[in-house]
Amino acid sequence: PAAAAAATEEPIQPPVDVKYTKLLINGNFVDAASGKTFPTVDPRTGEVIARVAEGDAEDIDRAVVAARRAFDEGPWPRMTAYERCRVLLRFADLIEQHAEEIAALETWDGGKTLDQTSETEVPMVARYMRYYAGWADKIHGLVVPADGRHHVQVLHEPIGVAGQIIPWNFPLLMFAWKVGPALACGNAVVLKTAEQTPLSALFVSSLLHEAGLPEGVLNVVSGFGPTAGAALSSHMGVDKLAFTGSTGTGKIVLELAARSNLKPVTLELGGKSPFIVMDDADVDQAVELAHRALFFNQGQCCCAGSRTFVHERIYDEFVEKAKARALQRVVGDPFRRGVEQGPQIDAEQFKKILRYVKSGVDSGATLVAGGDRVGSRGFYIQPTVFADVEDETKIAQDEIFGPVQSILKFSTVEEVVRRANATPYGLAAGVFTRSLDAANTMARALRVGTVWVNCYDVFDAAIPFGGYKMSGVGREKGFYSLRNYLQTKAVVTPIKDAAW
Ligand code: NAD
Repeated sequence: PAAAAAATEEPIQPPVDVKYTKLLINGNFVDAASGKTFPTVDPRTGEVIARVAEGDAEDIDRAVVAARRAFDEGPWPRMTAYERCRVLLRFADLIEQHAEEIAALETWDGGKTLDQTSETEVPMVARYMRYYAGWADKIHGLVVPADGRHHVQVLHEPIGVAGQIIPWNFPLLMFAWKVGPALACGNAVVLKTAEQTPLSALFVSSLLHEAGLPEGVLNVVSGFGPTAGAALSSHMGVDKLAFTGSTGTGKIVLELAARSNLKPVTLELGGKSPFIVMDDADVDQAVELAHRALFFNQGQCCCAGSRTFVHERIYDEFVEKAKARALQRVVGDPFRRGVEQGPQIDAEQFKKILRYVKSGVDSGATLVAGGDRVGSRGFYIQPTVFADVEDETKIAQDEIFGPVQSILKFSTVEEVVRRANATPYGLAAGVFTRSLDAANTMARALRVGTVWVNCYDVFDAAIPFGGYKMSGVGREKGFYSLRNYLQTKAVVTPIKDAAW
């Protein structure tokens, strides 16, 4: 009831204005070539926040031409690495100076709580930028010993023009994960933001220019997937493509890249991550962590712990407590401090999640909490918990991308590992136990890119992130990300008349 009241009150006026709605091409904010615009919507109400220039193939082409020129002729790849480092450091400072404005914009456009954007996401963006600024002047090659009298150098050069496509669930963080390493390595970028959340990337890009980024090095095109996104994926002038989004779209962009110029592609895709609770766990702590692992960001996380496996010996107690925790979750206007859950991103996701709830009920799972919308306006959904979920049901197999926790029962480590791995995805897993043996066994046996033991969602800039199986190709963050944006060149020189 408290949740319902909060979500039906008058929406709080966002403490920020929308300053940038045009495309960023060659250092200028410009209209789309077609003159078209599209609305970006406030998920609290469904009302239009602003109309944004709608880029399509022609704008992508203008942006790639600008990036190409900036890379082939401009100062960015030619300046010292230390100068590039300093631009990124100044950018991080500017993000901190404008933190409140950026956090408010991100909350308004994406429905994320202001607590989360201001205390976690915006500081993380500054942290990632400083991390990659630190790498800029530490990227160096090798001298390798080769048979015969040859001096062999291996150079690591920027790859050129990077195309980057990001989703709506973490617009700013995805900006940082992608733009940070690409710029640190000396590349030029064309970024295609998600149509649901175009605003924050435009704002921070203006700060990047204020920090001294030369024109054309970063171009931002707002627009839709099948038009702007597809044009970027298949553009002959793009040297590398980095994509984050759904597995289905990942397949499309990989195919477009292959059919055009064979640009290398990295993919960060979906997941159905297990969160495994052993019988030796502190049940209260496990319930809290499993709750956060699923409900964080309205459940809209690629690595959401969306299959909660609980050992049979503590199962009943766990379900009772998970239910109580979900019922306590504070849902409401994301601008209100103390709110834990805002609205889902848009009407489409909202309807999709409610369809999954119905399918859960139809599958015979026990609905122990939630299951309905909150209020009558915007895209708020009750924190929902299913118990007694069977592996083969849709709610246990598909990525729901919403606040719906599915609890499954298991009895042995071998069994839970087999079931946890029985999915086409392999993004992440949580393991909650006091047993070092169980933790070590599961950490190695789970076919996933990240295993969080007695923790979840730890996203330090230095930790690599990415998926096994259909959760992705390649890794982002840490120094692994640099590899995505570098070419490797061998230079072989004979050594004449060598005395040694
Ligand atoms: P989506 O695949 O629909 O969209 C992602 C991006 O791709 C958007 O910018 C969209 O405009 C673009 N796009 C759509 N169709 C395209 C096409 N034909 N060609 C080129 N680009 C196209 O995904 P979404 O609904 O925006 O995001 C949710 C998904 O993203 C979830 O599946 C989630 O798991 C995944 N995700 C993964 C990670 C990760 O790091 N692994 C992080 C965040 C989100």
